[in-house]
Amino acid sequence: MLVFAKIKSVQQKIKSLKKGTSIGFVPTMGALHKGHLSLIERAKKENDIVVVSIFVNPTQFDKQEDLINYPKSIDADLSLLKSVYCDIVFAPSSKEVYADDVKSENFNFDGLEFKMEGKFRDGHFNGVGTIVKRLFEIVKPNKAYFGEKDFQQLQIIRNMVKNHNVPVKIVPCEIYRENDGLAMSSRNARLTEDHRKVAPFIYKTLKLAKLKFGIENALNVVHWVENELKKQPLLELEYFEIAEEETLQTIKNKNSKQKYRAFIAVFAGKIRLIDNISL
Ligand code: AMP
Repeated sequence: MLVFAKIKSVQQKIKSLKKGTSIGFVPTMGALHKGHLSLIERAKKENDIVVVSIFVNPTQFDKQEDLINYPKSIDADLSLLKSVYCDIVFAPSSKEVYADDVKSENFNFDGLEFKMEGKFRDGHFNGVGTIVKRLFEIVKPNKAYFGEKDFQQLQIIRNMVKNHNVPVKIVPCEIYRENDGLAMSSRNARLTEDHRKVAPFIYKTLKLAKLKFGIENALNVVHWVENELKKQPLLELEYFEIAEEETLQTIKNKNSKQKYRAFIAVFAGKIRLIDNISL
């Protein structure tokens, strides 16, 4: 496994690959867990080589405190990446990526950016678009793997690739969960013991919401979830929405031809957790 911190050196290595070598790319912010590894394993199966980036992207954080406290574990990450036979790791510094201009590009994601996460995390998706576009330009992958855990992000990237004619195939990957249902996340490591104990309530509620959505109207389901969360003093609901998968528009009237998904964001103490489920 080769590890690069400089754009020039990783580009040189990629250029030196035999013509026709297919590259699968998994962008991450490190603090790797089995959810990340599931993307890498999939990329490994579908490509000749796999490139993983580790970069805690400052421009996608709306709160400085969140950026500072984001977990970092580069040594453990590299061991995990070796264990799944990752070929190339690109782990640049912020200076390498942004020089002295730590700013996002302004994107138009056709309105996807104003929903859910976009409402609560100012500038987040411009930051995501900026770094993913930049990383795609550097790595030039054939395919890039994104988790449905961050479903809105996945749709934003698909939109960016389409509107900017970026020649990368975006591969969505299922949410990888702990045995108790909690969606794996680098942030889980920062939960207190008590918050960790109640956190599986989020997915349990999503599963019940899915059942209810089969027999009740969407508004009832939304109210039911809001009430359920009130019963958990350790969890604070930020939003619960049922939206069309493709456009992320909030559901109005159920249409049997549409695909819907339920999205949730919850604070467990200071830690913000998100999850979603296909309905
Ligand atoms: P992050 O390091 O949080 O930026 O995540 C890097 C990639 O891994 C993103 O595409 C995430 O959606 C994906 N990912 C994170 N957690 C999970 C999970 N539990 N299951 C599937 N994919 C995940």
